[in-house]
Amino acid sequence: MEKMKFKAESQRLLDMMINSIYTNREIFMRELISNASDAIDKRYYKEAEDGCTGKSRDDYEIRIAADKDARTLTISDNGIGMSKEELENNLGIIANSGSLKFKAENSESMKDVDVIGQFGVGFYSAFMVAKKIQVISKTYGSDQAYIWESEGAEGFTIDKAERANIGTDIIIYLRDDTEDDKYSEFLEEFRIRGIIKRYSDYIRYPIVMNVTKERQKPASEEEMNADDYKPEYETYTEDEKLNSMVPLWKMQKSEITEEQYSDFYKKTYMAWSNPLKVVHTNVEGVISYDALLFVPSEVPYNYYNKDFKPGLQLYSNGVLIMDKCEDLLPSYFGFISGLVDSPDLSLNISREMLQQDRQLRAIAQRLEKKLLQTFEEMRDKEREKYEKFFDNFGIQLKYGVYDKFGADKDKLKDLLLYYSSTTDNMTTLKDYVSRMTEDQKYIYYAAGESKGKIKMMPQMDFFEDKGYEVLYCTDNIDEFAFMAMREYDGKEFKNISDKDLGFEKTEEEVKAQADKNEAAKNTLDAIKDALGNKVSSVILSTRLKNHPVCFATSDGVSIEMEKILKAQAAMSGNKELSGVEADKVLELNGDLPFFDAIKKAVEAGDSDKVSDYANLLYDQALVLEGMPVEDPLAFGERICKLMK
Ligand code: ADP
Ligand code: MG
Repeated sequence: MEKMKFKAESQRLLDMMINSIYTNREIFMRELISNASDAIDKRYYKEAEDGCTGKSRDDYEIRIAADKDARTLTISDNGIGMSKEELENNLGIIANSGSLKFKAENSESMKDVDVIGQFGVGFYSAFMVAKKIQVISKTYGSDQAYIWESEGAEGFTIDKAERANIGTDIIIYLRDDTEDDKYSEFLEEFRIRGIIKRYSDYIRYPIVMNVTKERQKPASEEEMNADDYKPEYETYTEDEKLNSMVPLWKMQKSEITEEQYSDFYKKTYMAWSNPLKVVHTNVEGVISYDALLFVPSEVPYNYYNKDFKPGLQLYSNGVLIMDKCEDLLPSYFGFISGLVDSPDLSLNISREMLQQDRQLRAIAQRLEKKLLQTFEEMRDKEREKYEKFFDNFGIQLKYGVYDKFGADKDKLKDLLLYYSSTTDNMTTLKDYVSRMTEDQKYIYYAAGESKGKIKMMPQMDFFEDKGYEVLYCTDNIDEFAFMAMREYDGKEFKNISDKDLGFEKTEEEVKAQADKNEAAKNTLDAIKDALGNKVSSVILSTRLKNHPVCFATSDGVSIEMEKILKAQAAMSGNKELSGVEADKVLELNGDLPFFDAIKKAVEAGDSDKVSDYANLLYDQALVLEGMPVEDPLAFGERICKLMK
């Protein structure tokens, strides 16, 4: 019997396998079971080709046997088998293994064994747990079986052997247990069950194991009625199928009930409530895949935690190859759970290669499109449901608009909803624009902490009078998203606090306004002097009706944005952000009596009084904007002074 050496590449991978302190060792079973399933596929088609009819898939099986005394785990199949040459060639080299190629090109990262974590390297992965492997195989169309044997690095031997039927046994001699590594776990029934459920549940041939069970010994009626009757138990063994075989996503949509979807969703993705929406697609063509996606009806409990990992499960032909594949979804759909199964993806690819995988990218693009379509449809046909969805996840879409310098804004802009001053329900931008009055140039919005607070903003009266609808922006991201969008349907966005609201004014109006300002000039100047740098200017308002005071800001940073940036600066310690300030213009209502009071104080040269009044007005404007009063003590004192 001659001893053969592994090919150089295989040798390298083997060393890596043997020496890896590998956390995901269990995947070796997935690899061997997948090989068995592939081998059965090959035989099934071969027999069909050869005109051997009458056989069904049920005639094939994959069998697992654990022998605790011998410390062996055997995986058998009645698939196509391997000839002597095939044993030598297929198990002696690694056939185009993607992982290995990747590894070979990046030998520096060879130590980073986790790269193979998610993606197996096929047969060799068994050396992570085995000190010796025997493969006994008889190939289709041959009478002679062969045994391949290897203890790893040393090479392998091939010899004649006995095997009754066509097929293959892979016998793994588990390594000895050590303090840290308990290889014998792979002999435990519950562990084997667990691994198969996790990775190989949807292999389409039965994975069978002879399991030991316990049952009550049968007893006669008489015995059972006796006072001292104690049931006796006996053990027996029975073949049990460990996999469910048909994946839900491979079934006909028409055959699946809503309940089945919900059960699957809750069980697989640990959700408490039924999904809000299920998207199930089977695509066949240049690239084929099945996808089963779930939109949660609630925000996942850990969604805003660091430990929340977005991503879809990735299957290759029913075999799980990755649990959280982030590349399958754009980040703004990170709340969606589900899976993709594609026969076009190879098992043997590393995570790094997967990221660049063209097929994967093509699938991701289609999923994105499909989801966008789904939400558009929901928006138009199931509005209530859509609003519920938007309540939970709309903010993610807004981030999506803002993210990547607005690269995705056109895909998402029509999915956004806002409350507004003239509608009870949320509105789309499209509907807003359709309601715009003829003379309205901008899409107006107001930013604040809550709907209630926005409604009370002094600036709002004016828009009500004008009959202009105002969108309510209560999410921090809102204004930034508008900035990223810049315009919708050719209409720019305008904060109702903007200094320039862009109204057309008649010549008379302009003149009347100028005259008014001129008449009030001394008073306004005195107030500006009293406030110094706190405001950039003080003017008479054209938009205030019942309220005495408000701030206006010029293009760029609004007061709400200043608040948000300051809060972010405080959290992140970013000094640059804390320096960002809105350019505040103090607008006063010259038609209210308080203005005369200041005017009189200015005329009387009572600079203390002017300063107090000016500061009180300024503080009032701050409070109305939901900003903290800068000096609460001084504020209190001024109020008390007034009361005297
Ligand atoms: P891959 O499955 O990606 O080809 P593997 O290392 O898992 O890589 O397997 C190498 C080759 O060994 C397979 O392509 C197949 O030809 C052969 N092989 C492995 N296991 C079996 C089996 N149970 N029955 C028949 N052939 C097998
Ligand atoms: Mg394989």
